[in-house]
Amino acid sequence: MDSENDAAVAKAQFRHTLLAIRQVLGEKGAKDIVQSAKLDVKLASLPPDNSDRTFKEQDYAHLLHTIEVTYGERGPQILNRIGKESLHIILRDQPGLMGTAKRVMSLWSPEQRIEFILEAIIDTQRKTYPQTEIWLEGKDGKLAYIEQNCIVCYGRQSPKPVCYLTTGFISEAIHWATEKEIEVKETACTAAGDAYCRCTVDTAIHRSNITLSD
Ligand SMILES: [Zn+2]
Repeated sequence: MDSENDAAVAKAQFRHTLLAIRQVLGEKGAKDIVQSAKLDVKLASLPPDNSDRTFKEQDYAHLLHTIEVTYGERGPQILNRIGKESLHIILRDQPGLMGTAKRVMSLWSPEQRIEFILEAIIDTQRKTYPQTEIWLEGKDGKLAYIEQNCIVCYGRQSPKPVCYLTTGFISEAIHWATEKEIEVKETACTAAGDAYCRCTVDTAIHRSNITLSD
């Protein structure tokens, strides 16, 4: 990782993640995690909601890893829930924009909605992290969200993918856009030695299950 990417987590992202952690683990659980991660973060005065990048990637990844280790078998599920909760925190901040997006999408097929929401996530990430390579790939009825220099698993090594926060966030965004439960799988992960993190959505398999609600 080059030095440009040091201290690279946006304040807003850290803030949303901390709020989501508090929501899922409760005040005490969140405090215990921040303490055992030995991070200099005060939950009572959260970082501001802007894209200044002052938090180190390794601290962010370490915080998430601490949750995974602390909660053992339940760790992945809990991180997934924290990812889902982060989406709702972001949606609450932009009610007007999101209402408009929903109205526009009501005329679209589920595949179009999924593509739209993934592109929207990618667009936001690119604006916040201009050095990060991030893109959408469509192949064989599957869409994949692909990210190099992922901050969720930054510096980690693991025999299997560990970006549970990302899969939770993406699956909840797809749920919001389609009103259906559609599985998102992380099929490659930097932590597992892959060149990038890749979250795959199988749009074809679910086609028959999806009915438009409006
Ligand atoms: Zn990953």
